[in-house]
Amino acid sequence: MSDLKHFAPLLDDKDILHQRDDMAPHLMDWRGQFDGAAQGVLFPRSTEQVAQIMAIADEHNIIIVPQGGNTGLVGGSIPDKSGQSIVLSLTKMNKVRELSVQNRSMIVESGCILEELHKTAEEHNLYFPLNLAAKGSCTIGGNLSTNAGGVNVVRYGNTRDLCLGVEVVLLGGRVMNLLSPLRKDNTGYDLKNLFIGAEGTLGIITAATLKLFQLPKMITTLFVEVNEISNAVKLLNTFKSHFPDRIESFELMPKSFWEVAKNNINNMVMPLEKMPEMGVLIDISSYSKDDTSPNEEGEIPIIKTIENVLEECFEKNLISDATICKNENQSKSLWSIREAAAESEKKELEKSNLIKCLKHDISLPVESIDDFHKDAQNMISNFLPELRTIYFGHLGDGNLHYNIFGNGSLPDGFKGKSQDLTNKLYEIVHKYNGSFSAEHGIGQLKKNNLKTHKNNVAYSLMKIIKNQLDPKGIMNPGKVLF
Ligand code: FAD
Repeated sequence: MSDLKHFAPLLDDKDILHQRDDMAPHLMDWRGQFDGAAQGVLFPRSTEQVAQIMAIADEHNIIIVPQGGNTGLVGGSIPDKSGQSIVLSLTKMNKVRELSVQNRSMIVESGCILEELHKTAEEHNLYFPLNLAAKGSCTIGGNLSTNAGGVNVVRYGNTRDLCLGVEVVLLGGRVMNLLSPLRKDNTGYDLKNLFIGAEGTLGIITAATLKLFQLPKMITTLFVEVNEISNAVKLLNTFKSHFPDRIESFELMPKSFWEVAKNNINNMVMPLEKMPEMGVLIDISSYSKDDTSPNEEGEIPIIKTIENVLEECFEKNLISDATICKNENQSKSLWSIREAAAESEKKELEKSNLIKCLKHDISLPVESIDDFHKDAQNMISNFLPELRTIYFGHLGDGNLHYNIFGNGSLPDGFKGKSQDLTNKLYEIVHKYNGSFSAEHGIGQLKKNNLKTHKNNVAYSLMKIIKNQLDPKGIMNPGKVLF
């Protein structure tokens, strides 16, 4: 008999789903690469309800798969196909419990949608800088559980760096309240960070204290063409020295990115006259009137400063073309192209003769990216000349989405060899001291790679911690670890 009977007394009928059709959106991931089955989906509305659910799960050995907005890209929030799991959706726990303007922090429940948190902070003239294309549907609980990155890491760090404290419900129902608003708190082990990035395998994050920042007065967006990656890296450092702590984003968008965008975004406007060989999208923040108010000649000082820096870069042959957005609409339109990257790739796969895509979310020390790319391109063309690489990403923090496509003419045997190709790519990443998992996490997709590439001692310590907190293996099983 279904385990749902244990939970029925705790929750309203409308907070429990059990029909296959109703549950469908919770059983398939965004990319459509993982699907599963479940006994039901539960929507608790309070930490107390989560605690009761976790006590019952422990007592009856019921598998719990936590889920936020289900935008994860590694299958972490999708149950297996057995149909035995209960999906625990935190999306109805979506209150902002407290916001302190003085302390520049807010305590929020884990089901809050990221974009809503942006709005809440802005209502108080403050800024929560975590920003990713899935912001309209991902939740802060999912962001914390994957330690999400996004486009502003170059300036503010990952989600981990934006979090002061968490509230976590453990298996069995104990609630660990570490919702500290403090910036200094050296009281033993940093348990908060154990749960951030744990992908729901150790406990349920029900709330968090987040850092808030000053809202920039103005953000200037510019698009710059460079002819190779090494120049993009030099440009990054030039901009860092001219605008210390003010580069909000620095995104690499090479020609292959623009080709896919052009094929798949209706009425797309190119930022430059011709398709850029290699481009970088940059956001720079300003905080003072001196920077943003027009002077006597009608010039806006920050724009003038950026123009001067670009001039210097032209003279050094670092860049070949550039445009500075004149208003917010132009900036939004450029960013919408960048943010549609995953969607455009998805469409490209659906409509063209591209049949296979191997996605890689890697990070490298920025100074090694150029050498990595050359080695990787060599390896890929030796592996199979028909393959095409579409890469782009958060160059400012060394994170590239390095996706390899094959077309309809791929030899039949390729499918069986695709994992070899990924492994070879990760060997090159490893050679340059990079990571095979930059920001999306491990989930189901990269468990093998974690076992291969994580330091042995660290891997076994992770297993010890997992066994202590989840001795029955019912907290999001099949994710992260074997
Ligand atoms: P889910 O997908 O629901 O869950 C993710 C993981 O967290 C799962 O393992 C789940 O079990 C666990 N989990 C969820 N909530 C909780 C909780 N409260 N307690 C414990 N465990 C929990 N990611 C980036 O890092 N950077 C990007 O730039 C980026 N861009 C993206 C763009 C698009 C178009 C899409 C679709 C995804 C993108 N992602 C990106 C991936 C994804 O948005 C992030 O991983 C996000 O943090 C997931 O949040 P979510 O609420 O959807 O979590």
